[in-house]
Amino acid sequence: MTITAASATNAEVAAADLEHVFHSWSAQAALNPLPIAGGSGSTVWDHNGNRYLDFSSQLVNVNIGYQHPGVVAAIREQADKLVTVGPAFANETRAEAARLITERAPEGFNKVFFTNGGADANENAIRMARLHTGRDKIISRYRSYHGNTGAAIVATGDWRRVPNEYARGHVHVFGPYLYRSEFWATTPEQEAERALRHLERVVQAEGPESVAGILLETIPGTAGILLPPPGYLAGVREIADRYGIMLILDEVMAGFSRAGEWFAFDAFDVRPDLITFAKGVNSGYVPVGGVLISDPIAHTFDERVFPGGLTYSGHPLAAASIVATLRAYEEEGIVEHARRMGQEVIGPRLTAMAERHEIIGEVRGMGVFWAVELVADRATREPVSAAVIGDLKRRLTAAGYLPFAADNRIHVVPPAVTTADELDQGLTILDAALADTAL
Ligand code: PLP
Repeated sequence: MTITAASATNAEVAAADLEHVFHSWSAQAALNPLPIAGGSGSTVWDHNGNRYLDFSSQLVNVNIGYQHPGVVAAIREQADKLVTVGPAFANETRAEAARLITERAPEGFNKVFFTNGGADANENAIRMARLHTGRDKIISRYRSYHGNTGAAIVATGDWRRVPNEYARGHVHVFGPYLYRSEFWATTPEQEAERALRHLERVVQAEGPESVAGILLETIPGTAGILLPPPGYLAGVREIADRYGIMLILDEVMAGFSRAGEWFAFDAFDVRPDLITFAKGVNSGYVPVGGVLISDPIAHTFDERVFPGGLTYSGHPLAAASIVATLRAYEEEGIVEHARRMGQEVIGPRLTAMAERHEIIGEVRGMGVFWAVELVADRATREPVSAAVIGDLKRRLTAAGYLPFAADNRIHVVPPAVTTADELDQGLTILDAALADTAL
């Protein structure tokens, strides 16, 4: 089927897509993808003229909103100048992107290894931790997602790991999640203390001399926007130090404005050894990710060859989009805006909804990074069924709100540039949809 964009309808674009595009994480037969024709700021539209407020930021990556003029112009200018160049050459735009990223990192992070996205950022961070320590195992959380490649998918905790378990040396632990505590805890302090004790016992039982790294999302995102309780990340740092283990913080989803911080760990008392990033660093305008490397690990590879690389590492179009995005975050106060919207609009509105709607078990989050956990029964905390979430998603979309749903939750994750008025409109739609949700 051939279509021309000018005359296309939703039905035509969806049919053309389904003819040849093979979709992620899906059985293909029942798919019905919503065609997106264009976007601006926090709004997208389809081919039939319907407009949607995007409360998903696609896959929680379009932090700067759609078609930011400065970022689009930077990509265009770079395309006119030099559209591609291999990683072995020096390139001024790549150098500037790396400099701007290190400028935001803690002291002692002076090198960036660019990748094509978040999964291969974790892949290479794991490799660096292994080579630096001479150890093998990586400990990560059951409730986590780290990407869809060899080691990254095996580090992932959720169901997507199980059919892909071909990499060795991976161990999982439960992390803190007080609402569904694995530790019978009733306070955040207890949850942190017991999760730390569990982690340390696993390190000891695995043989500390065999553990290269602890890989954690600073705030597990797809797994439920699980804010670490006070003391947890500092405690992980202590355990890592006690046993000579590298701490890798995955900031792919949480970083670069999503949590209302440059890095989400800026809000917590912790300093990692390796930081992985992607998504918000350029809002996904061009695929890119990377590893921020602390000095001791970087020095491991001063004389020794790092056995890793990618044809498109530090691609100039990606680099140009990073430079423009980070400048816009700074000049337009986008990180602070995201933090303020979380504190002043999203948090209070969701808390008020939780008081009115029995179906809400818990709301949690910061910045523009919030989860609304939906339950069939508040007392037992039994999650709502997939059918309830499916129906809610359909009604939200029909009302002009693009939702992000995961398990029994709606994640409220709009672009970091969304205005208070737009948030108010979207949250009003969500409020009404939840009021109408039958269990
Ligand atoms: N790490 C985290 C925390 C993520 O949320 C994701 C993607 O959702 C990834 C890694 C993988 O990133 P990518 O899809 O760019 O490979």
